[in-house]
Amino acid sequence: MNSEEIKEFRKVWSNSNRFDSNEILKVNKHTRASKYNGKSIFCPNCNTNNKVYHFCWSAITCGGCKDMIEKTDWNLQEQLKQK
Ligand SMILES: [Zn+2]
Repeated sequence: MNSEEIKEFRKVWSNSNRFDSNEILKVNKHTRASKYNGKSIFCPNCNTNNKVYHFCWSAITCGGCKDMIEKTDWNLQEQLKQK
C-alpha cells in the first residue's frame, strides 16, 4: 500500500464508522458528566431528558416514567420518534 492508498482506506474506514454513530449512544463506564453543567441523558422508556451531575450510581429513577433505569440503558441522545 502506498500513502495514497492508505489515505483512501482511512477515508472509507471513517465513513463506515460515521455510519455506526447513527445508532443511539448509550451511557457506559467511560461516560463522564460535568460537575457544573451536568449531562443530559434520555430515558429509553419515555425519552425524558434527565440531568445528572455524576455517574456514581448503577441505576436511577427516571423523572418522566418513574421507572428505575440501569445506567447502561440510558441514552446519550434523544431518541427520534419511530413511526
Ligand atoms: Zn422514563
